[in-house]
Amino acid sequence: MGELVFPPRDLVTVAVDGKDKRFPVNRIFCVGQNYAAHAREMGGDPARTPPFFFSKFPDAIAPNGAVIPYPPLTANFHHEVELVVALSGEGFAVSAAEADGLIFGYAVGLDMTRRDLQAAAKKQGQPWDFAKNFPYSAPIGVIREKAVAGTPGNAAITLTVNGDTRQNSTTADMIRSVPEIIVELSKAYHLYPGDLIYTGTPEGVGAVARGDVLHATVAGLPALSVTIG
Ligand code: MN
Repeated sequence: MGELVFPPRDLVTVAVDGKDKRFPVNRIFCVGQNYAAHAREMGGDPARTPPFFFSKFPDAIAPNGAVIPYPPLTANFHHEVELVVALSGEGFAVSAAEADGLIFGYAVGLDMTRRDLQAAAKKQGQPWDFAKNFPYSAPIGVIREKAVAGTPGNAAITLTVNGDTRQNSTTADMIRSVPEIIVELSKAYHLYPGDLIYTGTPEGVGAVARGDVLHATVAGLPALSVTIG
């Protein structure tokens, strides 16, 4: 490869629990409406919603403890707590049996959303990029390796804002399990090490304001706290 005309932006990385090595982020995928009660609160019908995905750039990542700038273009900035799957294997059109072999570990994440822009995009049949994909829109906690975390298939998933519980559910309520999500996503994309998948949020999403402290948990994983700046 020839010399670059300018230096590339820094690689985005995430801390790994118990390790001094970091997880390099390749791409960020997100699942839409993967909990029935949330699909209903968004005006969807979980029985008739096929799996769908959207994505975020790596610069959407923000670490535990970050101050998340209140983003431009919105007056309705929403929290969505989600289980995040971190991949260390690659594959295309994988089977459910193969899917587990791609998983490095899990983390707690937030799919921060400009809900007003999303509602407008839905109404006009336009893409969700401005609603979902912007800097600091994908806070993520420390990744815990699968061998340590196990598979959080029936784990409490919660979010508090300034200590008040807003979201309180279980990953057992996911419409599609983690392996099923990997199977579906791998039909469309060759998946690579460093890919992150945000697996959808349970019901109870809502707006945040400047100064709010968000505390997100999935049982068995390092918690995630961020402040809205
Ligand atoms: Mn989401």
